[in-house]
Amino acid sequence: MIKAKKSLGQNFLKDKNILKKIANLSNIEDKVVLEIGPGTGNLTSYILNKKPKKVFVIEKDNEFATNLKNKFQDKLIIINEDVLKVDETIISKDKVTVFGNLPYNISTEILSKWIINLKDFFWFECLILMFQKEVADRIIAEFNTKKYGRLSIICNWRLNIKKICDIKPNAFSPKPKVDSSLLTFYPKKKFIKIKDPKNLETITRIFFNQRRKMLKKPFNQLFNGDHRVLKKLKIDTALRPQNLNLETYYRLACEYEKLRS
Ligand code: SAM
Repeated sequence: MIKAKKSLGQNFLKDKNILKKIANLSNIEDKVVLEIGPGTGNLTSYILNKKPKKVFVIEKDNEFATNLKNKFQDKLIIINEDVLKVDETIISKDKVTVFGNLPYNISTEILSKWIINLKDFFWFECLILMFQKEVADRIIAEFNTKKYGRLSIICNWRLNIKKICDIKPNAFSPKPKVDSSLLTFYPKKKFIKIKDPKNLETITRIFFNQRRKMLKKPFNQLFNGDHRVLKKLKIDTALRPQNLNLETYYRLACEYEKLRS
């Protein structure tokens, strides 16, 4: 009997229809796949049934890593590490399709790391990821809404994001206390070039530090009150951070880079 470790966000997906649906979301036949947190290998089995070329898995839990080795033998390449410490860009020369019923306590950290570390190329073909619903709602939130913020701005910069479905706690064992949502992320062909994505992190952090306050103070902090930027981007500093659309934040990041270069 496996005892789930709360500290590693272990809630295992057991609903066969949902597992099948996830594995069917992308054609992975003869493709390279990376699964984050395979746990007991529930989703892994469905992935392997689709005849991928290679499957890498990253699992932090030593016990699971050993069990996966025994269960799947040489069908898997097991990386027994913390996903936050792995350089996923060098795992494979082929672009990978990433699956993950992510540990919810670090799901935003994983996704932000992947986006902020993106170079000129994409190391993945697509991401098929499960999040806590509340987090997924923030990822896909539109501007002028309460849930819109740093996560929406950073995630939508280079990715087209789609919600596939919501999933109730009884699809998992042990049951989580919250609903979950499944999202897909595909690389955008066109996006606003920001030289160092960490600048997007910086400006969104400063703008959303006080999300109910007017834009004036964070703007002055970042741009020394430079009115040319306001004029160019048609920004009214009496608005709140949630009232600026995605494009304005990406263009602000570019202006911030110009100012510092
Ligand atoms: N994929 C399995 C499923 O759907 O049944 C398990 C998903 S469970 C929500 C999250 C998995 O991620 C667990 O197996 C856990 O051990 C693993 N995990 C947690 N933190 C991790 C980390 N930092 N790096 C790699 N794996 C991690």
